[in-house]
Amino acid sequence: MGINVGKGKGKGAGGATQKSGTAAPSWLMSGSKAKEVANEHQEAAEERKLNRDKLWRYYLKPEAAGRIFFLNGDIATEGEEKGSFDIDFVEEHKVTSHGSKVPSFYVCVSRTETCPLCEAGNFASFVGLFGIIDTTTFTDRNGKEHKNRKRIFAAKGQTIKKLAKKAAQNGGSLAGVMLDVSRSDSRSATVGDDFDLVGAWPLEALGKKIDPEKWEEVIEVPDFAEELTYLSAAGMREKFHFDEPSGPGYQGQSNESPYAGGDDGGDDALPPAAGPDEGDGGSDVNPDSIPF
Ligand SMILES: [Zn+2]
Repeated sequence: MGINVGKGKGKGAGGATQKSGTAAPSWLMSGSKAKEVANEHQEAAEERKLNRDKLWRYYLKPEAAGRIFFLNGDIATEGEEKGSFDIDFVEEHKVTSHGSKVPSFYVCVSRTETCPLCEAGNFASFVGLFGIIDTTTFTDRNGKEHKNRKRIFAAKGQTIKKLAKKAAQNGGSLAGVMLDVSRSDSRSATVGDDFDLVGAWPLEALGKKIDPEKWEEVIEVPDFAEELTYLSAAGMREKFHFDEPSGPGYQGQSNESPYAGGDDGGDDALPPAAGPDEGDGGSDVNPDSIPF
């Protein structure tokens, strides 16, 4: 598709037909090599576009803070799962490509086939999936301000435990619960490691505060089957060049420590429950009483 690279003018088939007699430097590409690299660039561009259309992960820089509210997160009240979040979980790999600051996440396929990322030593994390609205204002590169963006909040074990306590304070659900989140340092969970309950409101009221017309869309829980990136083992091998470890596009696995940004440790002192009373509907709530 798209990019066509013609036959190079430099080296001929024999590789020894340079006019001047000096060999072309290795970084000047022509012919099939150039075509291959062109395709890689195009695939990367297509993936970036694809990822732009997917929901971003909630992420805090070290020492940063934010205010979010949850769209889902009921605690199961019966059955084997009693006391645990009745949400979707997934095993996933975090891969930070060379030259990119933003990691990508890939569903681990080890339940159904040999997972190339596991084989390469990239540890998969088991995470619980929440939909949230990030009410924190951020300014993009063009100086434009954004707020109230929907995000995927992927929580590992320690974070899940902390969130379960917040849910318990709110009658067994995180839906409509607003938290102030902060992240201590670079070793703390990337979603933050300290959570303060701001309050809880009916989702309808929260949604209407953001968009009185499209509020239902605002509070719709993300379709995680759509939002997560699933590649088959073959797809991963192709993407990460696992079949050609010495090939030109070889990146290897992320060399980031699997535990960097993990979510261990941290005190979790319970603040007194401080949520305002919730109404039953959402319509009676004065939007000015919602703090974002
Ligand atoms: Zn895996």
